[in-house]
Amino acid sequence: MKIIMLGAPGAGKGTQAKMIAERYKIPHISTGDIFRANIKNNTELGLEAKKYMDQGLLVPDELTVKILLDRVAKEDCADGYVLDGFPRTIPQAQVLEDALARQGEKIDYAVNVDVPDENIVRRMSGRRACLKCGATYHVEHIPPKAEGICDTCGSELVLRDDDRPETVQNRLKVYHDQTQPLIDFYTARGVLKTVDGTADMQDVFSAITEILG
Ligand code: ADP
Ligand code: ADP
Ligand code: ZN
Repeated sequence: MKIIMLGAPGAGKGTQAKMIAERYKIPHISTGDIFRANIKNNTELGLEAKKYMDQGLLVPDELTVKILLDRVAKEDCADGYVLDGFPRTIPQAQVLEDALARQGEKIDYAVNVDVPDENIVRRMSGRRACLKCGATYHVEHIPPKAEGICDTCGSELVLRDDDRPETVQNRLKVYHDQTQPLIDFYTARGVLKTVDGTADMQDVFSAITEILG
């Protein structure tokens, strides 16, 4: 099963993608996590991506597409995957569609996690991330067992640089300009499924599993 998560920054794509990955035993692939791991390890890719991410802008398509296509070509993706944060532009979606079509394949579901802009800034300012293992928490809604410490790996949790309110506004604008058109793109292919992302995490997940079967 090949699944794409769509939705504004902070809508809960990552949270749901991790639950989907566990339930359906497919890899969770987050381009944001890949970029953050590269930034942490000071790679050339990380340095390049950081220039854009810190401003709330998208990393250029050429760079992003190459990373994603390399990742989905790996053996663990043979039975499918859940993509979180990719595609974010029509050209990215087109490249993915063409690459899949060459193998007689396609995306099965594009799950749109719908959350209005008003809720987003609060979601993001409360988000705490573990840069070591990729786990995500929320100070009010999904708190870690011990304040500031990752449940999974014990590392310190941080507010991501790009989750500060100034940057969040830019990211929302970029979302509406460049990513929201994907809703029409996947509707036209008959695979778009929208769920209410303002519900509790478990209720959102129930709505998604009802769709995926
Ligand atoms: P969120 O989960 O909050 O939407 P991500 O972790 O997916 O954030 O992405 C963080 C940043 O990484 C984005 O703001 C963007 O700069 C960059 N990024 C991630 N995925 C892509 C992509 N597919 N295309 C371009 N830039 C991307
Ligand atoms: P995205 O990957 O779309 O940027 P995340 O999954 O990182 O979004 O979620 C953004 C923030 O909102 C995180 O702090 C997360 O813990 C929290 N969150 C996720 N789902 C819900 C939910 N259903 N209700 C309340 N908070 C949520
Ligand atoms: Zn961790």
